[in-house]
Amino acid sequence: MQFSAAGALPAELAARFAQGRIPHAVLLEAPAGEARERAVRELTAAIVCTGSPRPCRACVHCRKVFAGIHPDVSVLEDDPKQRVIRVDDIRRIRSDAYIRANEAECRVFILQEAQRMNEEAQNALLKLLEEPPAGVHLLLTAPSRAAFLPTVRSRLAMLRLSGVQAVRAPDERVDALLTALASGERYALLRTSAALLADRAEGLRLLGDAKAALRDAAADKLGLENRRGAAGEDAMRALSARVTRAQVLRLTALVDETARRLGANANQQLLSAWFALEAQEILSRQ
Ligand SMILES: [Zn+2]
Repeated sequence: MQFSAAGALPAELAARFAQGRIPHAVLLEAPAGEARERAVRELTAAIVCTGSPRPCRACVHCRKVFAGIHPDVSVLEDDPKQRVIRVDDIRRIRSDAYIRANEAECRVFILQEAQRMNEEAQNALLKLLEEPPAGVHLLLTAPSRAAFLPTVRSRLAMLRLSGVQAVRAPDERVDALLTALASGERYALLRTSAALLADRAEGLRLLGDAKAALRDAAADKLGLENRRGAAGEDAMRALSARVTRAQVLRLTALVDETARRLGANANQQLLSAWFALEAQEILSRQ
Protein backbone atom coordinates (compact mmCIF):
# COMPACT_ATOMS: atom_id res chain seq x y z
CA MET A 1 0.00 0.00 0.00
CA GLN A 2 1.52 3.32 -0.95
CA PHE A 3 0.82 6.96 -0.50
CA SER A 4 1.90 8.81 -3.59
CA ALA A 5 4.13 11.79 -3.05
CA ALA A 6 1.10 13.99 -3.66
CA GLY A 7 -0.54 12.41 -0.65
CA ALA A 8 -3.30 10.54 -2.45
CA LEU A 9 -4.81 7.54 -0.73
CA PRO A 10 -3.36 4.08 -1.29
CA ALA A 11 -5.10 2.51 -4.28
CA GLU A 12 -6.54 -0.38 -2.34
CA LEU A 13 -7.88 1.83 0.43
CA ALA A 14 -9.28 4.24 -2.13
CA ALA A 15 -11.08 1.33 -3.81
CA ARG A 16 -12.55 0.24 -0.48
CA PHE A 17 -13.66 3.78 0.28
CA ALA A 18 -15.25 4.09 -3.15
CA GLN A 19 -17.30 1.00 -2.36
CA GLY A 20 -18.28 2.46 0.99
CA ARG A 21 -16.27 -0.20 2.81
CA ILE A 22 -14.38 2.04 5.19
CA PRO A 23 -12.78 0.51 8.25
CA HIS A 24 -14.32 1.79 11.47
CA ALA A 25 -10.97 2.19 13.12
CA VAL A 26 -7.64 2.93 11.52
CA LEU A 27 -4.25 3.32 13.13
CA LEU A 28 -1.93 5.50 11.14
CA GLU A 29 1.47 4.32 12.24
CA ALA A 30 4.02 7.06 11.63
CA PRO A 31 6.18 9.52 13.49
CA ALA A 32 4.54 12.87 14.21
CA GLY A 33 5.13 15.36 11.46
CA GLU A 34 3.91 16.97 8.30
CA ALA A 35 3.58 13.71 6.33
CA ARG A 36 1.38 12.21 9.00
CA GLU A 37 -0.75 15.33 9.29
CA ARG A 38 -1.30 15.29 5.56
CA ALA A 39 -2.29 11.63 5.66
CA VAL A 40 -4.71 12.29 8.53
CA ARG A 41 -6.42 15.02 6.50
CA GLU A 42 -6.57 12.82 3.40
CA LEU A 43 -8.10 9.93 5.28
CA THR A 44 -10.55 12.12 7.16
CA ALA A 45 -11.67 13.84 3.98
CA ALA A 46 -12.06 10.48 2.25
CA ILE A 47 -14.35 9.30 5.04
CA VAL A 48 -16.76 12.26 4.91
CA CYS A 49 -16.41 13.08 1.19
CA THR A 50 -19.51 12.90 -0.98
CA GLY A 51 -17.66 13.25 -4.27
CA SER A 52 -15.63 10.84 -6.33
CA PRO A 53 -12.96 9.62 -6.18
CA ARG A 54 -12.65 10.16 -2.47
CA PRO A 55 -11.34 12.53 -1.32
CA CYS A 56 -12.51 14.70 -4.22
CA ARG A 57 -11.13 17.89 -2.57
CA ALA A 58 -14.02 19.84 -4.08
CA CYS A 59 -17.15 18.90 -2.14
CA VAL A 60 -18.15 20.95 0.88
CA HIS A 61 -17.01 18.17 3.22
CA CYS A 62 -13.54 17.92 1.71
CA ARG A 63 -13.12 21.69 1.77
CA LYS A 64 -14.14 21.89 5.42
CA VAL A 65 -11.80 19.07 6.41
CA PHE A 66 -8.86 20.64 4.64
CA ALA A 67 -9.74 23.96 6.26
CA GLY A 68 -9.93 22.24 9.66
CA ILE A 69 -13.53 23.34 10.28
CA HIS A 70 -15.67 20.27 9.64
CA PRO A 71 -18.26 20.02 12.45
CA ASP A 72 -18.35 16.21 12.31
CA VAL A 73 -14.63 15.82 12.80
CA SER A 74 -13.45 15.83 16.41
CA VAL A 75 -9.80 15.87 17.29
CA LEU A 76 -8.44 14.85 20.65
CA GLU A 77 -5.52 17.21 20.41
CA ASP A 78 -2.03 16.22 21.20
CA ASP A 79 -1.49 18.27 24.29
CA PRO A 80 2.19 18.08 25.22
CA LYS A 81 1.36 19.04 28.82
CA GLN A 82 -0.87 16.01 29.09
CA ARG A 83 1.45 13.02 29.10
CA VAL A 84 -1.20 10.35 29.33
CA ILE A 85 -4.55 9.92 27.60
CA ARG A 86 -6.83 8.88 30.41
CA VAL A 87 -9.99 6.87 30.56
CA ASP A 88 -12.10 10.06 30.91
CA ASP A 89 -10.85 11.29 27.54
CA ILE A 90 -11.96 8.05 25.93
CA ARG A 91 -15.28 8.07 27.77
CA ARG A 92 -15.88 11.55 26.40
CA ILE A 93 -15.33 10.25 22.88
CA ARG A 94 -17.62 7.32 23.64
CA SER A 95 -20.47 9.52 24.78
CA ASP A 96 -19.93 11.95 21.89
CA ALA A 97 -19.89 9.05 19.46
CA TYR A 98 -23.60 8.45 20.02
CA ILE A 99 -24.50 11.98 18.94
CA ARG A 100 -25.58 12.07 15.32
CA ALA A 101 -23.52 13.74 12.64
CA ASN A 102 -24.36 17.38 11.83
CA GLU A 103 -23.58 17.66 8.16
CA ALA A 104 -21.81 14.56 6.94
CA GLU A 105 -23.23 11.06 7.00
CA CYS A 106 -20.72 10.00 9.59
CA ARG A 107 -18.47 11.34 12.28
CA VAL A 108 -14.72 11.06 12.57
CA PHE A 109 -12.83 11.04 15.84
CA ILE A 110 -9.13 11.63 15.56
CA LEU A 111 -6.97 10.48 18.43
CA GLN A 112 -3.46 11.84 17.99
CA GLU A 113 -0.48 10.19 19.67
CA ALA A 114 -2.79 7.42 20.79
CA GLN A 115 0.12 5.48 22.29
CA ARG A 116 -0.26 7.81 25.28
CA MET A 117 -3.41 5.97 26.31
CA ASN A 118 -2.88 4.15 29.56
CA GLU A 119 -4.22 0.63 29.91
CA GLU A 120 -7.52 1.73 31.41
CA ALA A 121 -8.06 4.14 28.52
CA GLN A 122 -7.24 1.40 26.02
CA ASN A 123 -9.78 -0.89 27.60
CA ALA A 124 -12.39 1.85 27.37
CA LEU A 125 -11.48 2.32 23.72
CA LEU A 126 -11.78 -1.42 23.17
CA LYS A 127 -15.46 -1.28 24.12
CA LEU A 128 -15.98 1.36 21.46
CA LEU A 129 -14.07 -0.73 18.92
CA GLU A 130 -16.11 -3.79 19.74
CA GLU A 131 -19.45 -2.08 19.27
CA PRO A 132 -18.88 0.96 17.12
CA PRO A 133 -21.96 3.18 16.85
CA ALA A 134 -23.20 3.38 13.26
CA GLY A 135 -21.46 6.03 11.20
CA VAL A 136 -18.58 6.55 13.60
CA HIS A 137 -14.98 6.34 12.43
CA LEU A 138 -11.91 6.42 14.61
CA LEU A 139 -8.57 7.52 13.28
CA LEU A 140 -5.65 6.95 15.62
CA THR A 141 -2.09 8.08 15.12
CA ALA A 142 0.99 6.73 16.85
CA PRO A 143 4.66 6.25 16.04
CA SER A 144 4.28 2.51 16.56
CA ARG A 145 1.58 -0.07 17.14
CA ALA A 146 3.76 -1.64 19.82
CA ALA A 147 2.23 0.50 22.57
CA PHE A 148 -1.25 -0.97 22.13
CA LEU A 149 -2.82 -3.93 23.84
CA PRO A 150 -3.11 -6.90 21.46
CA THR A 151 -6.90 -6.82 21.85
CA VAL A 152 -6.95 -3.20 20.66
CA ARG A 153 -4.42 -3.83 17.91
CA SER A 154 -6.44 -6.66 16.48
CA ARG A 155 -9.40 -4.33 15.90
CA LEU A 156 -7.48 -1.59 14.13
CA ALA A 157 -6.81 -1.44 10.42
CA MET A 158 -3.12 -0.58 10.26
CA LEU A 159 -1.57 1.90 7.91
CA ARG A 160 2.13 2.47 8.22
CA LEU A 161 3.66 5.63 6.85
CA SER A 162 7.37 5.57 6.27
CA GLY A 163 8.64 8.42 4.18
CA VAL A 164 5.86 8.65 1.64
CA GLN A 165 5.05 4.97 1.82
CA ALA A 166 2.33 3.26 3.78
CA VAL A 167 2.52 -0.47 4.22
CA ARG A 168 -0.49 -2.48 5.24
CA ALA A 169 0.17 -4.73 8.19
CA PRO A 170 0.21 -8.46 7.46
CA ASP A 171 -3.22 -10.08 7.70
CA GLU A 172 -3.39 -12.87 10.27
CA ARG A 173 -5.41 -15.03 7.84
CA VAL A 174 -2.43 -15.03 5.48
CA ASP A 175 -0.15 -15.93 8.39
CA ALA A 176 -2.49 -18.77 9.32
CA LEU A 177 -2.46 -20.08 5.76
CA LEU A 178 1.34 -19.99 5.65
CA THR A 179 1.54 -21.83 8.96
CA ALA A 180 -0.87 -24.44 7.61
CA LEU A 181 1.21 -24.80 4.44
CA ALA A 182 4.31 -25.28 6.59
CA SER A 183 2.51 -28.01 8.56
CA GLY A 184 1.09 -29.70 5.46
CA GLU A 185 -1.87 -30.88 7.54
CA ARG A 186 -5.07 -31.31 5.58
CA TYR A 187 -7.47 -30.01 8.21
CA ALA A 188 -5.37 -26.91 8.88
CA LEU A 189 -5.20 -26.27 5.14
CA LEU A 190 -8.97 -26.68 4.71
CA ARG A 191 -9.72 -24.40 7.65
CA THR A 192 -7.30 -21.62 6.74
CA SER A 193 -8.15 -21.57 3.04
CA ALA A 194 -11.87 -21.40 3.88
CA ALA A 195 -11.16 -18.36 6.07
CA LEU A 196 -9.08 -16.80 3.32
CA LEU A 197 -11.75 -17.14 0.65
CA ALA A 198 -14.86 -16.46 2.77
CA ASP A 199 -15.37 -13.07 1.15
CA ARG A 200 -14.80 -12.83 -2.59
CA ALA A 201 -13.39 -9.31 -2.85
CA GLU A 202 -11.30 -9.66 0.26
CA GLY A 203 -10.22 -13.14 -0.82
CA LEU A 204 -8.67 -11.70 -3.96
CA ARG A 205 -6.68 -9.24 -1.89
CA LEU A 206 -5.60 -11.92 0.58
CA LEU A 207 -4.53 -14.22 -2.26
CA GLY A 208 -2.41 -11.33 -3.53
CA ASP A 209 -0.82 -11.14 -0.08
CA ALA A 210 -0.33 -14.91 -0.03
CA LYS A 211 1.43 -14.73 -3.38
CA ALA A 212 3.71 -11.93 -2.13
CA ALA A 213 4.43 -14.01 0.99
CA LEU A 214 5.38 -16.99 -1.20
CA ARG A 215 7.72 -14.71 -3.12
CA ASP A 216 9.20 -13.63 0.22
CA ALA A 217 9.68 -17.28 1.19
CA ALA A 218 11.45 -17.91 -2.13
CA ALA A 219 13.69 -14.90 -1.52
CA ASP A 220 14.36 -16.09 2.02
CA LYS A 221 15.47 -19.49 0.70
CA LEU A 222 17.99 -17.71 -1.50
CA GLY A 223 19.20 -15.62 1.43
CA LEU A 224 17.87 -12.41 -0.11
CA GLU A 225 16.77 -9.53 2.10
CA ASN A 226 14.54 -7.92 -0.48
CA ARG A 227 11.16 -8.84 0.98
CA ARG A 228 7.73 -7.25 0.96
CA GLY A 229 6.56 -8.36 4.38
CA ALA A 230 3.12 -9.47 3.17
CA ALA A 231 3.01 -12.00 6.00
CA GLY A 232 4.48 -12.14 9.47
CA GLU A 233 8.17 -12.96 9.62
CA ASP A 234 7.69 -16.13 11.71
CA ALA A 235 5.06 -17.65 9.43
CA MET A 236 7.04 -16.82 6.31
CA ARG A 237 10.24 -18.33 7.74
CA ALA A 238 8.45 -21.48 8.89
CA LEU A 239 7.22 -22.00 5.33
CA SER A 240 10.56 -21.14 3.78
CA ALA A 241 12.23 -23.79 5.98
CA ARG A 242 9.66 -26.42 5.00
CA VAL A 243 9.34 -26.11 1.22
CA THR A 244 11.63 -26.56 -1.75
CA ARG A 245 11.98 -23.85 -4.35
CA ALA A 246 10.03 -25.97 -6.84
CA GLN A 247 7.20 -26.29 -4.33
CA VAL A 248 7.10 -22.52 -3.85
CA LEU A 249 6.74 -22.10 -7.62
CA ARG A 250 3.93 -24.65 -7.78
CA LEU A 251 2.17 -23.07 -4.80
CA THR A 252 2.46 -19.66 -6.46
CA ALA A 253 0.88 -21.04 -9.63
CA LEU A 254 -1.86 -22.57 -7.49
CA VAL A 255 -2.55 -19.20 -5.81
CA ASP A 256 -2.76 -17.58 -9.25
CA GLU A 257 -5.19 -20.17 -10.53
CA THR A 258 -7.30 -19.87 -7.36
CA ALA A 259 -7.45 -16.08 -7.75
CA ARG A 260 -8.48 -16.51 -11.40
CA ARG A 261 -11.31 -18.89 -10.43
CA LEU A 262 -12.39 -16.69 -7.52
CA GLY A 263 -12.55 -13.72 -9.87
CA ALA A 264 -14.63 -15.84 -12.25
CA ASN A 265 -17.28 -16.38 -9.56
CA ALA A 266 -16.35 -19.93 -8.61
CA ASN A 267 -18.19 -21.36 -5.61
CA GLN A 268 -16.02 -20.27 -2.68
CA GLN A 269 -16.48 -23.37 -0.53
CA LEU A 270 -15.59 -25.71 -3.36
CA LEU A 271 -12.72 -23.49 -4.38
CA SER A 272 -11.20 -23.30 -0.92
CA ALA A 273 -11.42 -27.10 -0.53
CA TRP A 274 -9.85 -27.57 -3.95
CA PHE A 275 -7.07 -25.14 -3.04
CA ALA A 276 -6.36 -26.94 0.24
CA LEU A 277 -6.18 -30.39 -1.39
CA GLU A 278 -4.03 -29.20 -4.29
CA ALA A 279 -1.69 -27.46 -1.84
CA GLN A 280 -1.41 -30.64 0.22
CA GLU A 281 -0.65 -32.59 -2.94
CA ILE A 282 2.13 -30.14 -3.86
CA LEU A 283 3.58 -30.35 -0.35
CA SER A 284 3.59 -34.15 -0.40
CA ARG A 285 5.82 -34.23 -3.51
CA GLN A 286 9.32 -32.78 -3.60
ZN1 LIG B 1 -15.06 15.44 -1.36
